[in-house]
Amino acid sequence: MSSDILAKSSEGIDHNLTHEPDGRPFGLSLPSDGLGDTHRLRDDVFMVAAFAHVHVVQTEEASVVFDSGIPELAPMIADRVSEEVAAPVSHLVLTHGHRDHAGGAGHMIGAFGGAGRRPALVAHESLPGRMARYRLTDGYNRIINERQFARSNPDGLIDGFAFALPDPDVTFRDRIGIDVGGLEIELRHVRAETDDHLWAWIPQRRVAVTGDLMLWHFPNAGNPAKVQRYPLEWAAALRDIAAVGPELLLPGHGLPFEGRERIRRVLEDTAAVLEDLTMLTIELMNAGATLDEVLEATRIDQERIKRPYLAPTYDEPEFVVRNVWRLYGGWYDGVPSNLKPARFAELASELADLAGGALALARRAEALTADGQTALACHLVDLAAAAEPKNAAVHGARRDVYRQRRDEQQSLIAAAVYEAAAHDSAARASPAAPS
Ligand SMILES: [Zn+2]
Repeated sequence: MSSDILAKSSEGIDHNLTHEPDGRPFGLSLPSDGLGDTHRLRDDVFMVAAFAHVHVVQTEEASVVFDSGIPELAPMIADRVSEEVAAPVSHLVLTHGHRDHAGGAGHMIGAFGGAGRRPALVAHESLPGRMARYRLTDGYNRIINERQFARSNPDGLIDGFAFALPDPDVTFRDRIGIDVGGLEIELRHVRAETDDHLWAWIPQRRVAVTGDLMLWHFPNAGNPAKVQRYPLEWAAALRDIAAVGPELLLPGHGLPFEGRERIRRVLEDTAAVLEDLTMLTIELMNAGATLDEVLEATRIDQERIKRPYLAPTYDEPEFVVRNVWRLYGGWYDGVPSNLKPARFAELASELADLAGGALALARRAEALTADGQTALACHLVDLAAAAEPKNAAVHGARRDVYRQRRDEQQSLIAAAVYEAAAHDSAARASPAAPS
């Protein structure tokens, strides 16, 4: 139990330490089972560090728990919380309905109940609709989550997606106040990473709980395989949090933040990056640019995201631009042939014939990869594999091109997609295939 992590956080921010001495990205590391230490941050505030953190604020009469972790870790996290709290848990607040934050709620409501009492489950009114969507699209979510977390999660913590969640006892639309043993807690809704996100403000303690509005990663506002995200509303919420003046800020992932001025700087910096990226995209859309032209023009100022709390190690700016395009425009990218395209395999066969065969495309992809042009190489090798899906030599090339592309990635999301492509082709390449 210590608040060493607050000292570490402040040092990282003040000295802009983007990397650890061993070269890994700067931040909080967790053991492979996803459950870290319990950190006492104030006399009456502690955090159980985990795959998604659980925060607890106590008074003499009651305690409030923010988020519940993934279902698989909830029993261990609940035990940790029970060991630490002196007063009963009166409220469990879910910052949003993602599985890593809400998945353990069913267990925790049971674990913190008993003797005729039961904590109130508090969430935004859109959370039940999210649960219904998860049930509707469980197969899809299982596939993308397995792909996204297969590498970072070798112990198989994410083994499914839909989860049982009791109906919330208290929901709200814009904002609500709850009373925890005389301590006033204000909850405010914002559409940001999710449509059901909230942040909490505890004025008497000057503490803000932000869920995934702050992550110690570049904001997850572009995730390519997930539903719409809302970067401008997200940025506005970050400015609202800065305006209330928290002295301790508790994010859903990564290190907590301390110090009013430091927190303000971090929040406003993050908001500005989201605003600039969004407004530049909208400006280009208004001027008639295609998505391709927008992507080319919005290469974000790389110096600006060299901050320990903005590292594009999970999501990345390019994906946020695509999300903005979808939010304000639609899915049509401005290239007429993409409106009602031919089957990709037909296009691939046509181009393979022109190039002298699928293997010729694959060999050119290998040459481009050797030359460092892996983005271009991926197009050619995908065409080669689509033209001749059973060609083991083509798949050997595709495996190697995508392994190289994966190794070049900083973001977990991109690396996972390329890893899956390499894995898929490795299974179809003959062992003797030249690579
Ligand atoms: Zn999260």
